[in-house]
Amino acid sequence: MSIFRSETVAVDRDSDGSFVVTIDVPGRAVNVLTGRVIADLDAALDELAKLPRLPVVAVRSGKPTGFLAGADLAEFTAIRDTAEALAVSERGQRLFDKLAALPGPSVAVVAGPCLGGGLELALACDYRLVFDRPSTQLGLPEVELGLLPGWGGTQRLPRVVGLERALKVILGGRRLDAKKALQWGLSDAIAATEAELRERYAKLLVRAVGEGKRRRDRLPLSGWRQKLLESNPIGRRLILRGTERLIRTRVPDDMPAPAEALGAVRLGLERGVAEGLKREREAASRLAVSPACRNLIGLFFQRESLRKPAGIESAREVKRVGVVGAGVMGAGIAQLAALQGRDVVVQEVNQAALAAGMARLDDLFAKAAERKRVSAEEAKARRAAVKGTTSWEGFASVDLVIEAAVEDLELKRNLFKELAARVGPDCVLATNTSSLAVARVQEGLPHPQRVGGMHFFNPVHKMPLVEVVRPPATSEATAALLTKFAIDLGKVPVRVGDGPGFVVNRVLMPYLDEAVRLVGEGLPIAEIDALMRRFGMPMGPLALLDQIGLDVAAHVARLVRMQLGRPAEEGGAFERMREKGWLGEKAKLGFYRHGAKSTPHREAQELMKQSYSGSSPSLKLPKAARLAEARERLVLPMVNEAAAALADGLADAATIDVAMVFGTGWAPHRGGPLSYAGSRGVGDVARSLEQLASRHGPRFAPCAELSRRAATDAPFRPTGR
Ligand code: NAD
Repeated sequence: MSIFRSETVAVDRDSDGSFVVTIDVPGRAVNVLTGRVIADLDAALDELAKLPRLPVVAVRSGKPTGFLAGADLAEFTAIRDTAEALAVSERGQRLFDKLAALPGPSVAVVAGPCLGGGLELALACDYRLVFDRPSTQLGLPEVELGLLPGWGGTQRLPRVVGLERALKVILGGRRLDAKKALQWGLSDAIAATEAELRERYAKLLVRAVGEGKRRRDRLPLSGWRQKLLESNPIGRRLILRGTERLIRTRVPDDMPAPAEALGAVRLGLERGVAEGLKREREAASRLAVSPACRNLIGLFFQRESLRKPAGIESAREVKRVGVVGAGVMGAGIAQLAALQGRDVVVQEVNQAALAAGMARLDDLFAKAAERKRVSAEEAKARRAAVKGTTSWEGFASVDLVIEAAVEDLELKRNLFKELAARVGPDCVLATNTSSLAVARVQEGLPHPQRVGGMHFFNPVHKMPLVEVVRPPATSEATAALLTKFAIDLGKVPVRVGDGPGFVVNRVLMPYLDEAVRLVGEGLPIAEIDALMRRFGMPMGPLALLDQIGLDVAAHVARLVRMQLGRPAEEGGAFERMREKGWLGEKAKLGFYRHGAKSTPHREAQELMKQSYSGSSPSLKLPKAARLAEARERLVLPMVNEAAAALADGLADAATIDVAMVFGTGWAPHRGGPLSYAGSRGVGDVARSLEQLASRHGPRFAPCAELSRRAATDAPFRPTGR
């Protein structure tokens, strides 16, 4: 019997006397907590509270896709100031307090994603039942978006699972599957099948009626570790201090969310839930309008829209893929295509190279199975979908060829001529070149319109970005097919122009150059990398160079520089490192000694220092100022190069930013180099570059685009949202 019905929430009385609240947001694939849902739930709870007798209430989703995926981020983007943000948090807190205060006990039935506000809702119930299926995930990912759980999560979660575990979920972004949720006490019961779900549900309702509402005003203290550490103020302080230390060392500058979240948890433990909730909503209001949060949410939406671009609907489906070259990139691309259900054929120069490539593939599949990306059987089946050849066998019937042979223009041109004769008339060809102009590869081909660039990043399975390169001769249909295929592979595609190094390598190049120069000046390798991690990069520039490979990086830099008409770097020291075979991770030696734990390679530092001939004015600065200048010397050239790439029409500002974030992990909370320039002030960036140019030379001179904008302090992208 229905007792309440609204657009998104219904309440029915079940035959057993229980009341069932069902959330189902129309027009959405998954439930999200919109303003409408909050208002409807509020009204539903008022109806329930009016009932003379309320034996037990169950809260569930009306969608098979999951419980509740969190707050509606689109509504978040409309928040203009702290007062509005505070009101949003207050409303949610009040609603969940009302749910927690219902006269009868409540049970949340969780199947599928239960994240953010969804978990905060489940936590406001007295009991939880989880359905054990692969999509079931319970977590509070707000901090990843520069926010904190602002609807009671910082207070309720520690009181359900304990302090240490709650911090892992709130600060560490840990998501729990159904089994873990049960083990951690986040869930009271688990079901593996639909039949079991019905049975456990009925049992849990009986238990809830018997045991009644639960007190949730203290930590659970289950298990020896919690009893030892969390039962007393000293132990709790130990945990909180350790977490503070972690935040200090791991969280980049200008990313306030983790410290704010910890502050709310701590205050709630010290002064009680009411004070904790007050701190939580105040922090939520500060964070919601912080640049970090705006940038992170902005990136979330950009990612979504890049994965659903207009104009690819009619692009042909790629079923069979040819890959040329089974080296680092070719093997990675072949594996990814096979994992996504494509048949793949790989061409190599000879049997030995083919065998090496196939071994690389075996290894990649084994690792995917180890990481549980696929089951062992599936890995085996997908591996079998990749065939190898040295005689182009199978290429006549492929829909797409991705060329990933060595970086050499003549070689690539010959390969494309050969391919033109071997593939069918509708087949699209793409090169994975890092630094050659795709237009040069197209020259002399009978069908340049069917040829484009598809620039993957290393390691292919990990890096989310693909630059889709479209020189003038490439048809829109070809670019659309490449874009669609990148999406099918789970990647984020960006369309970029055919300029030297495209966007990512071009912007990265001056940064890596400067890092090498700083090592030569004697700044310790570890300090340079730490500086950039503090800025927000996932790894420092020297660790990145080791990952790319010093030979690959030098080759790409040489080609890009040449095409941009820039002078070749003197680079003697860097060359000597290569002569010694210190090529980075693959050689176990580079700027670091690579092993179970990587440590800075002292001999490399020495070698670079000995070969350094200049006399940098940085050397005369006291340590702190020297580090501050080093940070400027590393970051600002990227902003400058990004502005130059924009002026050259390689992509628009938002695309350049997103490419840097998804292609290199560029400090996401700063939104990318051009967004960073905007929030810092373009005028300030230009002045700082001029200052660096006067001290260190013309490589820092602001480009025309930057100077032009600096004159009126015009940002590259609209600031805010
Ligand atoms: P790699 O040296 O690891 O592999 C190249 C493979 O191509 C080798 O196995 C080689 O035997 C094979 N090959 C050479 N000539 C061939 C031919 N005529 N026919 C068939 N196979 C041939 O190189 P890689 O790092 O995988 O790079 C491949 C391409 O991808 C290059 O254009 C490179 O610029 C680009 N790329 C590399 C990276 C990276 O970080 N390694 C990233 C993005 C793009």
